[in-house]
Amino acid sequence: MTTSSCFSVGCHAPVVAQWRRRPTPDELSAAIAEEQQMRQRITDLASADQPAPVFGPLPTAETCTVAVFGCATHVLSLDLAARVHAATCVPDPLKVPAACGCTPEPLPSPPAPQPVTQLPSGWVVPTQPAAPAGTVQPSTSAAGPAVLS
Ligand SMILES: [Zn+2]
Ligand SMILES: [Zn+2]
Repeated sequence: MTTSSCFSVGCHAPVVAQWRRRPTPDELSAAIAEEQQMRQRITDLASADQPAPVFGPLPTAETCTVAVFGCATHVLSLDLAARVHAATCVPDPLKVPAACGCTPEPLPSPPAPQPVTQLPSGWVVPTQPAAPAGTVQPSTSAAGPAVLS
């Protein structure tokens, strides 16, 4: 397990935020090697009686991200932290909030709203009508609790 620390070299303040950037070629090679090792272990441990394990595509520079951490002083703005940054992005820790060193990728567009289906009458649960003022609730009846006979 790796411990997260502020991206600013030499800063040991507690980490309060994280954002993502694309991996460098070395980081991508390491991620692919780690994934291949894990897949090999799974294949080695798989039962010969069962279908062979099926794996998805290996990580690529477009699908892989690396976490970057910042302390309360060395942190990007919320808008910048929401976006994926370039592999070469090194924020300037002397600016507050830290200035980004790249042009981050745009945010993904929000999903299209789902069409609303109108249910036929009888399929809609009516909302509970509010009890009129002065109505005695069954649980507070003077006859006491109901008894099954
Ligand atoms: Zn810091
Ligand atoms: Zn950046």
